Amino acid sequence: MIDRETLDKIPPGTHLPSVVNAIIEIPKGRRSKFEIDKATGLIRLDRYLYSSSHYPGDYGFIPQTLAEDGDPLDVLVMVNEPTFSGCLIETRVVGLFRMRDRGVNDYKVLGVPHRDPLFGEFEDLNDVPIHFLREVSHFFGTYKQLEGVVIETVGWSRAAEGIACVLDAVERYKKEKETRSPN
Ligand SMILES: [Mg+2]
Repeated sequence: MIDRETLDKIPPGTHLPSVVNAIIEIPKGRRSKFEIDKATGLIRLDRYLYSSSHYPGDYGFIPQTLAEDGDPLDVLVMVNEPTFSGCLIETRVVGLFRMRDRGVNDYKVLGVPHRDPLFGEFEDLNDVPIHFLREVSHFFGTYKQLEGVVIETVGWSRAAEGIACVLDAVERYKKEKETRSPN
């Protein structure tokens, strides 16, 4: 069970900001969009994607972060084998995908499992196959099309920008928490 209380005990990373904790909601290859319901800690089926496409990697969020869209910062993890909803993956940041959903910045951190030797040489965006970057860009550019939602894809940035985005989201979360419970 991953409820709000549990999430508050999981730090955003083990070697912040370049190695983050990714909490997976949707395993690679799935079309079903699962979400962790933070009130109950259960895995909730948000929707079956309207588009006939599937997630190109394990997908979830970094705990104790706050992105510009008001949600925890999203993360896409390249995996050799899909994990499962609720799995924690120590993830090394290798890039950042920038997009806007309904006019709001909705960035996706790209990472690899930190301890997977098959990803041992992945340190930055230029280590990632270019076609994978195209797949991800195409996926996010079209996955909401049949819902009538326009996603504006901006493009890929390197690891340094991904790391900066993580730091911003950690700071934003801390500030927001302070205003919620000042002491
Ligand atoms: Mg988001």
